[in-house]
Amino acid sequence: MTHAILDTLGLASHDRVVEPASTADTITSVNPATGEPIAGVKLDSKADLERVLAESVEAFDRWRWVPAPQRGEVVRAIGDELRKYRDPLGELVSLEMGKIRAEGIGEIQEIVDIADFAVGLSRQLHGITMPSERSNHMMKEQWLPLGPIGVITAFNFPAAVWGWNGMLAAVAGDVTIWKPSLLTPLTAIACNSIAERVASAMGHKGVFQLVIGNDEEVSVPLTNDRRVPLISATGSCRMGREVGKAVAARLGKCLLELGGNNAVIIEPDADLDLATKNVFFGAVGTCGQRCTSTRRLIVHESVAEDVVGRLEKAYRSLLGGGKIGDPLAEGTLVGPLIGVPSVEAHEAAVKTAVEQGGTLVVGGSRLDPSKLASNGLKGGFYVEPAMVRMPAGKHLPIALEETFSPILYVTTYSTLDEAIALQNEVDQGLSSALFCGSVRSMGRFLDPGGTGSDCGLAYVNCGTSGAEIGGAFGGEKDTGGGRESGSDAWKAYMRRQTCTIHFGESFALAQGIRFE
Ligand code: NAD
Repeated sequence: MTHAILDTLGLASHDRVVEPASTADTITSVNPATGEPIAGVKLDSKADLERVLAESVEAFDRWRWVPAPQRGEVVRAIGDELRKYRDPLGELVSLEMGKIRAEGIGEIQEIVDIADFAVGLSRQLHGITMPSERSNHMMKEQWLPLGPIGVITAFNFPAAVWGWNGMLAAVAGDVTIWKPSLLTPLTAIACNSIAERVASAMGHKGVFQLVIGNDEEVSVPLTNDRRVPLISATGSCRMGREVGKAVAARLGKCLLELGGNNAVIIEPDADLDLATKNVFFGAVGTCGQRCTSTRRLIVHESVAEDVVGRLEKAYRSLLGGGKIGDPLAEGTLVGPLIGVPSVEAHEAAVKTAVEQGGTLVVGGSRLDPSKLASNGLKGGFYVEPAMVRMPAGKHLPIALEETFSPILYVTTYSTLDEAIALQNEVDQGLSSALFCGSVRSMGRFLDPGGTGSDCGLAYVNCGTSGAEIGGAFGGEKDTGGGRESGSDAWKAYMRRQTCTIHFGESFALAQGIRFE
C-alpha cells in the first residue's frame, strides 16, 4: 500500500483497507495497468449488512424530518468537499478501473455537477395541482421521501453512478446503501467516506452507507429486503434480470441501468471528419468499457470506403503510436481492460466474428508489451482495439451481443430506413447517434411517432458516449428502462401522494354517485 493517492485520500489508514489478501474475508483491489495488487479490502458479511440496514432505517427516520432545502445544504457541502479532492479521487478511479486520468477526473466532476443540480432541486421537488370535479375540493400531488435505497454499481463507472443516485436520493430525503463492484472497492470507500464525513459533521450521521461484499452474502440479500423500497442497479443485462426478478417478487421498485449495444449511423451528407472523430472516441475510449461505447457503425454505402479508411488510419496510429498504456501517464489515450476475463472475451469475440464471416480490418489481439506507451509496465490487461467489417446490410450474430471491450462492427446501408432498422435490431436500447447534414434525416431519426431510434439516448452529430448530467440517462428494452441523473429522474427516489382536501360541508362523492 505505497500509493501516494491512497495516503492523500486517507485510505492507507482506513480501518477497512488492509494489506492485499491478508485474510479469507478480504478481497484484493488490482491495478489493471500492471496486474499488481493495490490494497486489500475487508468484506462485509450478512451480519454486517443487517447492521447497515438497521442503521439505515434509523437514519432515514431522522433524515426525512430535515426540510428538503436543508438537505440540499448538506449536498452542497459534499459537492464542495468532492471539488477539493477531485483530482486524487479521479486518479484513484484511473488506478483501480483503468480509464485515463482525464476521464477519471471527469467522473468525479460528474458527481460535483450532479451535487450542484441536486442543491437546486432541493427547492424544486414540485408537485402539481389539478382541479377537482367536486365543489369545495382541492387536489394536489406531493412527493415524499421513499426510504433507504439500495444502489448497486458496476466497475466501469465506479464513482459517478453512485453520485447520480446518492445526491438525488439525499435531497429526496432517502438514505443510500451503496454496494459497489468488488473490482473497484477503494473508489467506493473514498467517495462514501467523504459524503458520510461531511453529513455527520453537519449532524446527519448514517445518510450514506456502504456495504462491500459478495453477491450471495450482501448484494442478493439487499435486493430481497423489504426495508429497501428501491433498488437502483447498474450492470449487465444478466444481473438486471436477476435483480429485477428478486425486487418484483416482493413488489419493490427497481431502477435498472443495464448493457448497451450502441450504433452510429453516418449519412452521405454528414461531416465525415466530425463523424469519424466521434466514432473513434466512442469505440476505443475507456477501452470500450462504457455502457455507451460505440459498438456498431452503420455507414452509407457511398461513403463507407472513405469512412473505414479514415478510421483504419486512426486505429493504426493508436496501435503504433504508443498511445495505449498506463492510464495515469501523460499522453495515454487508451488504458487497459479491467481483467484477464475481459481480455479473453475480447479475443474470443474477434475470433467468433471472423468465423461468422466478418473481416478483421485492424487490431483484435492482446497487446504486444513492446507497444505499451510506458516502459516498466509489468503485466496489465491490454488489448488492441479492433474494427471488423460485416457483410453489407446485416449483422453478424456476435455483433448483436455486448462484448465489453473495444470492438467496432461495421456494416453498410442504402436507405436511412434500412439503417434505422439495423440500429434497432439489437436487444439493448441505450444510446444511438446519427451524423447527417439534412434536417429531413434528423427528423426521421428523432421522429415524434417513435419510428426512429428506439434508444433512451439519441444524438445528432455527436457520438454515443459522453452524456451530460442535465438530461435523464438510461435506455429501453434490455437496457432496463431506468432513468437517472437529470430532468425529472429524481421522481424515482420519492413516492407520489395525491392529496384531496374537502373544505365545504356537503357530502359529495366523485363521479356524481349519490349515497344518501
Ligand atoms: P455486472 O453485472 O457483472 O455487475 C454489476 C453489479 O451487480 C456488481 O456490483 C455486482 O456485484 C452486482 N451483481 C451481479 N449479480 C447480482 C445479483 N444477482 N444480485 C445482486 N447484485 C448483483 O456488471 P459489470 O461487469 O460490473 O459492469 C459492466 C456492465 O454494466 C456492462 O454490461 C455495462 O453496459 C453495464 N453498465 C450499464 C450502465 C448504464 O447506465 N446503462 C452503466 C455502467 C455499466
